[in-house]
Amino acid sequence: MHCAIPLYRFLPDNNEINIKNLEQIAKLKEDENISFGRYLKGQDSEKVDEIVHRLYKEIAPQIDCLNCGNCCLNLRPIATDKVLSAFVEPKNIEDFKYLMSFPCKNLDGKKCTIYSERPEECKEYPYMHRDKYVERTHEIRQNYEICPIVFNVFEH
Ligand code: SF4
Ligand code: SF4
Repeated sequence: MHCAIPLYRFLPDNNEINIKNLEQIAKLKEDENISFGRYLKGQDSEKVDEIVHRLYKEIAPQIDCLNCGNCCLNLRPIATDKVLSAFVEPKNIEDFKYLMSFPCKNLDGKKCTIYSERPEECKEYPYMHRDKYVERTHEIRQNYEICPIVFNVFEH
């Protein structure tokens, strides 16, 4: 994608990880990104997924989630009662709907205090391994300003 910001380059070894920059760039590039999302919808979905999955594999290991935590700070993970019941007593599910808390009450600084037992939705975020990227451009644009992985995959 063309970038409107001077000196801002998107190279595999030059990922943007500053959350404040992500927010700023998302504002500046809102129209461009909406247009790009529309353009993607007209492309071959499988080919786009191939590219996105490859970029995700390249970029995700370069970004340290443990030093970020921005998704936990800004998003409510969506989990069903079924998912919750895997680690919460059924009688406590309603009380334990930390999923309703914002930010998540299991977040301590930038770290998840229940990391090994976190819900599937948390494990799967930012969903870049999933298919049908071209049908999820709205969701991806929302995550673009929150998650450096999403941002850098989108920009590459
Ligand atoms: S459960 Fe853990 S990984 Fe999930 S949102 Fe809360 S702090 Fe983040
Ligand atoms: S998934 Fe994205 S937003 Fe969440 S901690 Fe990792 S890099 Fe940050």
